[in-house]
Amino acid sequence: MIEITFVGTGSAVPPAGRGTTAFTVRTENMLLLADAGPSVFDGMQRAGIDPAEVTAIFLSHGHADHVLGFPQLALLTKIAPRNPPLKVFASAVVRETVTAVIRLTFPEATDALYRNMEWIELAEGPRQSYDVVEGVQLTSQVVFGPPYMPVLGLRLDFFERGISLAFSSDTAPSDELASLATGCDLLIHEASFSATLEPDGSPEMLFHSDARQAGQIAARAGARQLVLTHVSRNHSDHRRVLTAEAAEFFKGPIYVPDDGDRLRLE
Ligand SMILES: [Zn+2]
Repeated sequence: MIEITFVGTGSAVPPAGRGTTAFTVRTENMLLLADAGPSVFDGMQRAGIDPAEVTAIFLSHGHADHVLGFPQLALLTKIAPRNPPLKVFASAVVRETVTAVIRLTFPEATDALYRNMEWIELAEGPRQSYDVVEGVQLTSQVVFGPPYMPVLGLRLDFFERGISLAFSSDTAPSDELASLATGCDLLIHEASFSATLEPDGSPEMLFHSDARQAGQIAARAGARQLVLTHVSRNHSDHRRVLTAEAAEFFKGPIYVPDDGDRLRLE
């Protein structure tokens, strides 16, 4: 069983009822958290997940809505140490960012960064793969984000089950992401914008995508299912609009989950 829980589904300034975008992936022998924005601790607990159970964390980039919950998770590893230590997959720049934040905000947790965590430095460039646990591989690659802040796309392959998922975090439509997500069972793609509700918007300029573009990427990747997340304040009540936009291009199932929703991959 591979269970995905959408811990948060909102954008950097999330709508009421949605936390910042993050999700967990649970199997029998791991609980991986993808991104850790400011509401992640509360979001996990609301979803019935004990943050102390997390065995691995992936941080896509250093924007506040993706990392500012990390200090609490670091402090927790000091209060409830793990054995083996918590694996943290992040680029060198993101590691520097969260380390600086922890030094300033939870100096008492600084030693946990070295003692209770195993850092796996992700390359800020072409695709590279790393083991999460036996039989589960994490692959990351830079996607189309701001030049001052490289964003890493994520792919997880569960080899024994023949299942894979991909995550866009924050990105404008990206060839790299379409390639990274090739043939995946689930693509979790951001839809910060709506082509219908903001016809004059130019999301590419802001390094984000609209739901139609998310549908295009899912179709190009040949994904089996699509989840739209990173939903903004303007679109939270427009699930049908976002779904219809993505469905113009992507013919598989499309979900716009609420915080706490779960999805199983068999
Ligand atoms: Zn974001």
